[in-house]
Amino acid sequence: MPEDCIFCNIVNKTIGSDILFEDNDLMVIQDILPKAPVHVLIIPKEHIASVNELDEAHISIVGKMVMAAREHAKSRGIADSGYKLIFNIGPDGGQTVKHLHLHLLGGKPLGE
Ligand code: AMP
Ligand code: ZN
Repeated sequence: MPEDCIFCNIVNKTIGSDILFEDNDLMVIQDILPKAPVHVLIIPKEHIASVNELDEAHISIVGKMVMAAREHAKSRGIADSGYKLIFNIGPDGGQTVKHLHLHLLGGKPLGE
């Protein structure tokens, strides 16, 4: 685990965060700078830098992340109104935290 990784430190609870769901594999946390009424991050507990570093062994965790996002959307009442799931990757993708995370955004019209 990279000691300076903010999401690893959130996962091991060295840094506090608003944890909305947690299981053996992942966490759902409130984004600290929300860009929509619902803006949470789905974070695998394992340190994976980005989608670029995924390999075959990670297929299961990525599926679990999407399912956790869907369940969270349902629990927040936005499944039917709709939402976005976003992976930012690398500099042009706007990735600022180099630990894989899936953004779930919703609760208002977010455009195309
Ligand atoms: P990205 O630009 O895809 O790397 O997104 C990183 C996200 O992490 C941004 O939406 C930030 O607001 C969010 N973020 C950064 N630090 C924290 C933190 N300590 N707790 C919760 N969210 C954070
Ligand atoms: Zn990490």
